[in-house]
Amino acid sequence: AFDVLIVGGGPAGAAAAIYAARKGVRTGVVSERFGGQVMDTMAIENFISVKETEGPKLAAALEQHVKQYEVDVMDGQRAEALIPGELNEVRLASGATVKAKAIILATGARWREMNVPGEREYRGRGVAYCPHCDGPLFKGKRVAVVGGGNSGVEAAIDLAGIVAQVTLLEFGSELRADAVLQAKLKSLPNVTIHTDAQTTEVTGADGKVNALVYTDRTTGQSHTVALEGVFVQIGLLPNTDWLKGVVDLSKHGEIEVNARGETSVPGVFAAGDATTVPYKQIIIAMGEGSKAALSAFDHLIRSSVP
Ligand code: FAD
Repeated sequence: AFDVLIVGGGPAGAAAAIYAARKGVRTGVVSERFGGQVMDTMAIENFISVKETEGPKLAAALEQHVKQYEVDVMDGQRAEALIPGELNEVRLASGATVKAKAIILATGARWREMNVPGEREYRGRGVAYCPHCDGPLFKGKRVAVVGGGNSGVEAAIDLAGIVAQVTLLEFGSELRADAVLQAKLKSLPNVTIHTDAQTTEVTGADGKVNALVYTDRTTGQSHTVALEGVFVQIGLLPNTDWLKGVVDLSKHGEIEVNARGETSVPGVFAAGDATTVPYKQIIIAMGEGSKAALSAFDHLIRSSVP
């Protein structure tokens, strides 16, 4: 059995593995795809102390750093069930079971997609999901934000300070964001809001986005908005379905953690985008992963299991 088993090989899981291994404890990592969301990222400009890098480059550096230590990385393995106990068990899709005194859950999240033509094709070439990450790339340009919930309206307010023009599109007949955010949004001169708007296509030319097409659901008419960027803000889905009923999850499916990264189950910790910790970012996930590993180590030195 491992002392610490980490489920997830993104920034949070990699940081947890390094911190655990540096304590000299038997450390394992189970990951479906090492690198996580970073593998799908193009330019990264907010990983502090690194002016600019690319996702696959950062993922390779993560892997190299983890491999400096005696960490048993089981890549290409999907965890399907967590069975807590004195020794916790993680059952894999392959049928195998891995046991550990402490578990760190770092399974991350994924953005909900619009599933319209052009979205995948122009991902990273105008179609974006993270305003904190990609907002500055659209300085002085025109963008749309799809989604009128809190994250969409926050993104539109944020982007309005950077870009020339923001068009916010909400599928329903009203925005769903908090009233203060809506009031702020409506006070901005360079924001246009369309409700009852169903995005139907993202178009482009020369490998770059040039417009978004939406249908006005009240009239059935189709409209085209010329622009350079589309921020999709219709939800972030934590990869926690397999944990339902085992650890406490928020109403959004995020693993509830306290300031030490402890979950509702003793000996089970969590970190990164899969948790209730706000602001889903690489540097935050790494900090949280490190913290969860230190908490797991603290748990080990206090536990009676040999
Ligand atoms: P993830 O990176 O999601 O990693 C989760 C890991 O868990 C993966 O290894 C996955 O395979 C594994 N996993 C999931 N389920 C299971 C399972 N059941 N069993 C086993 N393994 C499992 N952040 C920035 O700070 N700057 C940026 O510029 C930036 N740009 C981004 C661009 C894009 C397109 C995307 C999608 C995200 C971007 N982010 C950016 C966000 C950043 O990538 C995430 O905040 C960060 O990767 C979260 O790390 P994590 O380790 O918590 O989760």
